[in-house]
Amino acid sequence: MRPSRRISAIAAPAGDSWALYSRARRMKEAGEKIVTLTIGDHDWTTPETVIAAMAEAARAGHTGYSHMAGLPELRAALARREQARSGVPTGPGNILVTTGGQAALFAAMMAGLDPGDRALILSPYYPTYPETVRAAGAVPEELQTVSENGFEPTRAQLEAQAPGCRLMLVNSPHNPTGAVYSRETVEAIADVARAEDMWLVSDEVYAGQVHEGAHLSPRSLPGMAGRTLVIGSMSKSHVMTGFRIGWVCGPEEMIDRMEELSVTTTYGVPGFIQHAALHALREGDAIEAETAARYRRRRDLALKALEGANAIRLLPPKGGMYLMLDIRATGMTGKTFAEALLDQERIAVMPGESFGEAAAGHLRVALTCEDAALEDAMRRIAAFAAQRAAAA
Ligand code: PLP
Repeated sequence: MRPSRRISAIAAPAGDSWALYSRARRMKEAGEKIVTLTIGDHDWTTPETVIAAMAEAARAGHTGYSHMAGLPELRAALARREQARSGVPTGPGNILVTTGGQAALFAAMMAGLDPGDRALILSPYYPTYPETVRAAGAVPEELQTVSENGFEPTRAQLEAQAPGCRLMLVNSPHNPTGAVYSRETVEAIADVARAEDMWLVSDEVYAGQVHEGAHLSPRSLPGMAGRTLVIGSMSKSHVMTGFRIGWVCGPEEMIDRMEELSVTTTYGVPGFIQHAALHALREGDAIEAETAARYRRRRDLALKALEGANAIRLLPPKGGMYLMLDIRATGMTGKTFAEALLDQERIAVMPGESFGEAAAGHLRVALTCEDAALEDAMRRIAAFAAQRAAAA
């Protein structure tokens, strides 16, 4: 029997993006000492108070089916958060609670695209983007941003590539590059989305981790709330990756339709998880601020450790929990460099190519280990790159 064309289309490319991560993980499980700076998962656990709230909610009986679109109190809390960030009047009806940001992305693609439609994605991208578009039966079209422009798209690029696309997917603060789009860029994105009558999916899962500049949501720009679907998640902001809790914020009519997707997929997020999320939000800004501060400190330490590294071009991230390094001076691809680094130095980072062609010749370093180990890893990466550049 033949699997569907849809599942065949999404199965092939995804595997390769994570190949190095999977190899490093197997080495670690076999007892090797590996410095793991690959995927965006924190090296510390969820705050104890959030875990306690989850257990308490389960003991209090929140173990049955929960609300399909999300607990009313949680939807209201998330609506307040989105309103505070964007200034756009937002109510519980504008929020769909999902099993993480990834399910929110999937829901947005299913709701915004018909089979055969084209969706504009900006390379480099979070590796699930092309497959999530394909999962909806649509076709991803890539716009290549360049490191010389801070990996932001230009108005001319957007105007050239948007026509004919039904949806555009953008992400700021950006994974993997750490770009935080300027007002000029966000305005260009919004102008083009309006001019071409497109849905705009704005992935803002790192909105609470801005180290330089300010986050501007395109939803807040004139005429955009009716066509923008914001993707949110508590994975990165509240150290809750494994809880699988995220949301979509969008026009009420669209959110109503998207609720039907929960019926055919997850049947809603477990009640005790939603209560834990509500608790985390009610605790105020402390968890999110502490998480962001930790990554900012590590970013600064890593950049300092790399000062004077002549075979690496630094691209200081303005937001998020990663650092991009341009290693093209070594003459190696990101993939061959990362493979050799893992074999020889036992340091695991992601090859830029995992995030699309635009990140070829780069590495993405997740800032996911303690200060001293991170500084040491950075110095060893710099020395390794210098050695390779000298041999090139
Ligand atoms: N969007 C971006 C840009 C990400 O980097 C991630 C995770 O790394 C996600 C979405 C998905 O996050 P989650 O499904 O854990 O909420």
